[in-house]
Amino acid sequence: MYYNWEEKTSTEELKVVCNLIKNGELVIFPTETVYGIGANAFDAEAVGKIFIAKGRPSDNPLIVHVGKKADIEEIATDITKVEEKLIERFMPGPFTLILKKKPGVLPDIVTAGLDTVAVRIPKNLIAQAIITFSGVPIAAPSANISGRPSGTNIEDIKQELETKVSAVIDGGNTEVGLESTVVKVVDEVPVILRPGKVTPEEIRKEIGAVRIDKNVFSKVSEGEVVASPGMKHRHYAPKTKCQLIYSKDDQDQIFEINKRIKKYRGDVVVIGFTEHKKDIVVSESRFIDVGSKDNLDEFAKNIYSILRRADHIKAQIILIEGVEISGLGVAIMNRLLRTCEYDYTEI
Ligand code: AMP
Ligand code: MG
Repeated sequence: MYYNWEEKTSTEELKVVCNLIKNGELVIFPTETVYGIGANAFDAEAVGKIFIAKGRPSDNPLIVHVGKKADIEEIATDITKVEEKLIERFMPGPFTLILKKKPGVLPDIVTAGLDTVAVRIPKNLIAQAIITFSGVPIAAPSANISGRPSGTNIEDIKQELETKVSAVIDGGNTEVGLESTVVKVVDEVPVILRPGKVTPEEIRKEIGAVRIDKNVFSKVSEGEVVASPGMKHRHYAPKTKCQLIYSKDDQDQIFEINKRIKKYRGDVVVIGFTEHKKDIVVSESRFIDVGSKDNLDEFAKNIYSILRRADHIKAQIILIEGVEISGLGVAIMNRLLRTCEYDYTEI
């Protein structure tokens, strides 16, 4: 079933979709970050279907989406002062908090057997309506085949997942374009396990301290124990090989990209900035513009659909212009590093 929310969603249709969720079916729906593929979080069998549809490793736990702050206490327990403050400030929104799991409520498959649970309250009105009308928490990872770029518009998602779910709800392009900021509080300090739209700077301002887990920017080594299972897995990657290039100096960055275009005899796609377009010597059709360096929101919003577009060209290599690691640049560089499987050059 396909529903275009903007054109004709009635309470009746909302009921149909929510009944599907209650009855153990999968539904794809928009949130403000990326689209989710959701199931009733209380239903182990339904949640199992998510892992099968995505080909997701079973050791990678899911985020549980609830409608309001009071619902958090249904699934989590022993919430500390710092956690409370984070919930107050950043929820609803593109923010996920890892909390102590309330025993005996959620099936183990949701949390991959951990004694913690990832909780989020989406702000998106469609997501809110679905959660509220369903009356159950919804376990939902990003709507994409595991390892591929996350789904941020329906065309991309339909190609990968439409036949594997009972309903797809089209809410247009997602607002943020990157997955939520994932935070766990350790010794009263918020630790960012996955950066997102809510930046380290914003968290520090609220709590007075923040840390970024070391695996946000470095490759997990074989057998290493990680704070978040998702860190271990391949992510956000097109099939074409990608390389990430960054310099504080624009001219150096452009020089390095041109050098590689030459090396690969032009069989490249460049994902780059409007202001560099005229200096990068690649044909018009092989330059994919991500907007201005001064508008990272635009870059974040479009990055996954751009990566898919770049992949369709089937070039030898995709060269991606990096950004400074601060503000939203922290999240963008985290995703791009993984897209490029850490093939990163800083000049
Ligand atoms: P996704 O659902 O694809 O957006 O990914 C959710 C992210 O949150 C993954 O990186 C998971 O590993 C991480 N996550 C979910 N639950 C937990 C948890 N209990 N502890 C640590 N990380 C978690
Ligand atoms: Mg994902």
